[in-house]
Amino acid sequence: MKGICFLCGNYEQLEEHHIFGGARRPASTKYGLTVHLCPWCHRIDADSAHRSGKTADLLHKYGQHKAMTEQRWSREEFIAHFGKNYLDEAQIWGIEHPDDSWENESAFQLVEEGAVLPF
Ligand SMILES: [Zn+2]
Ligand SMILES: [Zn+2]
Repeated sequence: MKGICFLCGNYEQLEEHHIFGGARRPASTKYGLTVHLCPWCHRIDADSAHRSGKTADLLHKYGQHKAMTEQRWSREEFIAHFGKNYLDEAQIWGIEHPDDSWENESAFQLVEEGAVLPF
């Protein structure tokens, strides 16, 4: 199957990559945590998903974000399914509080604006 590679964006022959492999591979399939990569981004290049820990970690972050958003999981629920947490605190908070984060940002801006008022 030809299509757009998830990582490089080139139109190539694609291979399906399970974001969480090994023992987590069936869960990756179950929750749709797969991406389509060209052979170079998948396994050939030095920075491909199967040869670079950095690229694998980037995909792990994407996968956790996707799973938590689509399944409405907390961090703990994600860890229960996939064994560990890949996102930092700010990223987790943004997923768990999609509405609050916007309100908090507005409130913060109001405080900032208030600080420069002359009264
Ligand atoms: Zn590619
Ligand atoms: Zn793969």
